[in-house]
Amino acid sequence: MKYKMTSYIGGQWIKPQKEEVMDLIDPATGTKFGEIFMSGEYEAKEAIRVANDAKQVWWELGHTMRKNIMYKLAKLIEENKDDFAEIESKNQGMPKAYVYDDIDFITENIKKTLELATHLTGSVYDLEPYVRSYNVVKPIGVCVVIAPWNFPLVVGLQGIIPALAAGNTVVFKPSEFTPLSAIKLFELIDNAGFPKGVVNLVVGDGYHVGSHLTESPLVDKITFTGSTKTGGSVLKASVNNFKSVNLELGGKNPFVVFEDADFDAAIANCVAAVTTNSGQLCVSSERLIVENSIKEKFVTSLAKAFSEIRLGRGSDSSTEIGPMVNKSHFDRVMEYISHGIKTNQKLVYGGKKAVFEDDELNGGYFIEPTIFVDIDTNSKLWKEEIFGPVAVVKGFDTLDEAVLLANDTDYGLSSGIFTEDRIKADYVADKIEAGIVWVNCYYAGSEGAHVMGWKNSGQAYQGGLRGLKAYTKEKLINIKK
Ligand code: NAD
Repeated sequence: MKYKMTSYIGGQWIKPQKEEVMDLIDPATGTKFGEIFMSGEYEAKEAIRVANDAKQVWWELGHTMRKNIMYKLAKLIEENKDDFAEIESKNQGMPKAYVYDDIDFITENIKKTLELATHLTGSVYDLEPYVRSYNVVKPIGVCVVIAPWNFPLVVGLQGIIPALAAGNTVVFKPSEFTPLSAIKLFELIDNAGFPKGVVNLVVGDGYHVGSHLTESPLVDKITFTGSTKTGGSVLKASVNNFKSVNLELGGKNPFVVFEDADFDAAIANCVAAVTTNSGQLCVSSERLIVENSIKEKFVTSLAKAFSEIRLGRGSDSSTEIGPMVNKSHFDRVMEYISHGIKTNQKLVYGGKKAVFEDDELNGGYFIEPTIFVDIDTNSKLWKEEIFGPVAVVKGFDTLDEAVLLANDTDYGLSSGIFTEDRIKADYVADKIEAGIVWVNCYYAGSEGAHVMGWKNSGQAYQGGLRGLKAYTKEKLINIKK
């Protein structure tokens, strides 16, 4: 399949001017299934221009009309969930079940965010006899949303939804590696009734498209989700007109297990923490910090659980984990494993390209879930985000040693603690330097809560009313009485 009309600008599908083509490869088999035309500077600038022109139209439409259009989009997304599942499993290699969960989350998120948008109200200060002051809440303006290749649809929409709900216009750039769900999304956006120019799509890479989006003086806000390194470049590019910037970056998240933990629950949560989406998830855990008294038993049980995981095509309903997204990421993760082996780190499980009876899958980019124990904390396997199903284990004896190990990282995205002792849990949760702490429930969460990456994992709030407010600015008006 040849995808030519890959940018949606001003309510129209556009064929990129430069006609640069990228191959689309199924990561489960390594075979080409299509080609996609990449956009460049022209499309990036054109998308910003129309989004800037549409600012007033979208804001003046009012909340109720915006809500009706976005509810229609939520309904269309829900009706097309089978197509999204098909697309994401082929393009990113994700098991379809994840996509169905994501669609449920997205459609609910659209509705909840629009409810929260009714709370974007100002305040009146009528305290003096001669002046009345009031704050009013306004959209920021043109928001650029840049997404990574993992969970492409849900991560993209986590920026697009609050931006639109708060009355901003949007230019969306998905990862060049996983643009297909965005193209499907914009087919639905085309039918949902948005005024022209309110939401725009530009498919292209970071150099030819991303940099023009982040540098443009017509852009007022950037929501960037991706690696910490690229996040730094985005922040630098944003300073020319002091854009508001949301950064959602990488992680090297600790999973701390005490000997008094519910052992089976800790193992089950750990399997999910390490292997969900084959470890290609910002909040997955790659550092397991386990009390020495149970470390051996824990590692043996984890290895057994890993041996039972079914790897396969995302489109196969029995698949639990899929492949790495592409050859270059596969090579990158395998290079970490080789480095661990070469530097005498103790590999106790996995460490190889997965082998299948179905020979077609042997061309794919699958990696066995992998465990290294007693890792040297100077090793790059301990320090750097691998973004694959590779866990390194370190033992500890005291509470404070556990905290020190958990915080021995430049990142601060998320963390997990497993213990049945609430006082211990409370102490460690308080000391851990991370934006999310899961105690006995990795990946659980409550509606309306917001999150924020600490340290090199990001800045700005995401989710809930606080996250929505990041897409607004306020004005103070003082009127003489
Ligand atoms: P990446 O940083 O390589 O790319 C992310 C996006 O930025 C892509 O769309 C890319 O084209 C674009 N880009 C690249 N250079 C750019 C530039 N100079 N200017 C503007 N845009 C540019 O990240 P990736 O490999 O796609 O994604 C994996 C990373 O994303 C991991 O580090 C992961 O932890 C992180 N991530 C974080 C979260 C979170 O919420 N914190 C969520 C998902 C992924």
